[in-house]
Amino acid sequence: MSRLRVLNPDADRLKEECGIFAVHAPGHDAARITFFGLFALQHRGQESCGIAVSDGERIRMHKDMGLVSQVFTEEILATLPGHMAIGHTRYSTTGASVKRNAQPVSCTTMTGDITVAHNGNLINAHELRKEMEAEGEIFDTTNDSEVIAKLLARETTHDLVEAIRNVMQKLRGAYSVAVLTPKHIAAFRDPNGVRPLVIGQIDGGWVVSSETCAFNPVSASFWGEVHPGCIAVVDEKSARIEQGVEPERPAMCMFEFIYFARPDSVMYGTRLYNARERMGEHLAREHPVDADIVVPVPDTGIPGALGYSRVSGIPFAEGLIKSRYIHRTFIQPDQRMREMGVRMKLTPLEENIRGKRLILVDDSIVRATTTKQIVRLLFECGAKEVHVRITAPPITHPCFYGIDMASRGELAAAKWSIESIREHIGATTLGYLSIPGAVDAVGRPKNEFCLACFNGDYPIAVPEDVRKDVFESPKTGAFATVTSGQARLEFEE
Ligand code: SF4
Repeated sequence: MSRLRVLNPDADRLKEECGIFAVHAPGHDAARITFFGLFALQHRGQESCGIAVSDGERIRMHKDMGLVSQVFTEEILATLPGHMAIGHTRYSTTGASVKRNAQPVSCTTMTGDITVAHNGNLINAHELRKEMEAEGEIFDTTNDSEVIAKLLARETTHDLVEAIRNVMQKLRGAYSVAVLTPKHIAAFRDPNGVRPLVIGQIDGGWVVSSETCAFNPVSASFWGEVHPGCIAVVDEKSARIEQGVEPERPAMCMFEFIYFARPDSVMYGTRLYNARERMGEHLAREHPVDADIVVPVPDTGIPGALGYSRVSGIPFAEGLIKSRYIHRTFIQPDQRMREMGVRMKLTPLEENIRGKRLILVDDSIVRATTTKQIVRLLFECGAKEVHVRITAPPITHPCFYGIDMASRGELAAAKWSIESIREHIGATTLGYLSIPGAVDAVGRPKNEFCLACFNGDYPIAVPEDVRKDVFESPKTGAFATVTSGQARLEFEE
């Protein structure tokens, strides 16, 4: 019998900031299409979500805390008529987890309403905001996306491309942005292309998405990437792509390939599932070990474990089962459950584990707290040996481009040697994929990736004072603490 003890494997994971989606489809219900697009992008943000639509004259919007399926009902979608829409799923890395920070963000401008949805992190948002506040601008939210919306709102030109181009010249950092006006949708991407952004075609119209996985559910087909520094604009007459700012060195986030993006998405022309299998294959070559079975930490460790198994010849076997439904509740564990150390989401298959030498494949180690719990659980279930293999290089530096990870002092690989981490998590052996192994698995040159959290080489310079809560006042911070307690879907360590 499997034990009742369960773990939450996501409590110690890196968290993606946001997913964005946009559609321009004459004759279609854009809010409904966006709902299903956001549903496919739910993994990119689970704190809040929103949809803004236009019927060609007026923009309407609904947003709230919660998952897409919790925030939108048939009744709410019926209040959002129109053939153009943008949508957003959010996990906060800048700004508190409160309803007013949910996106899209809306502004009234001299030339009409404008609504913005943003994935990424501006490293000069604080600076821009201070300048604008000094000029009398009042901000309603504490997120950096409002800075983009307000900058667009200040533009006096009626040419949307020109307005976006002017704004892009002021922004520094990672941004993939969708924009809705009463008559257009537009999308633009930072000159390094840190966060993904793709375009698809849909029955007489166009869609834009963070990932291609949102295309299949809405019957859209992949058309191409929005290249770094580019602006895509769609109106009643045409769809076109223009250069917004000069592209710089490409720096797509390597963690999109390793873990964040859905495995069925395609990035840089590579199906991520296959790239992750190849990461497992490289890992088997770099860190071979004699064992009985290869066990993934579900779900993201599965393709890597299959790759490891294929190259090593050691059979793949499930040893941990993940609950599929935990993300669908806002109910928090009570204090007694916390004190008992009970975690949700992972249950061990004791029959597959007992007496075996295991190779445990996972995609990353951040603080090492969860890996330690999983290793302990496997030994408690009778594993003879647990060899941990990670399909990412050691994370030694924090991210400033839209991924919520621990501060440098909390990152296991920043403060400990590999041997110390092995000892800390109680594994028999520990091996990480090398940077060349990760790059080779995706199949593009090393200089086309951001690898900063692995090697400290930041493609966009980061000022010293940049940090997550740069906009937080004591008042909003206190409010955020209370509200995020209800909204946070993981159980904290
Ligand atoms: S620092 Fe790491 S997580 Fe952040 S964008 Fe670069 S590769 Fe991605």
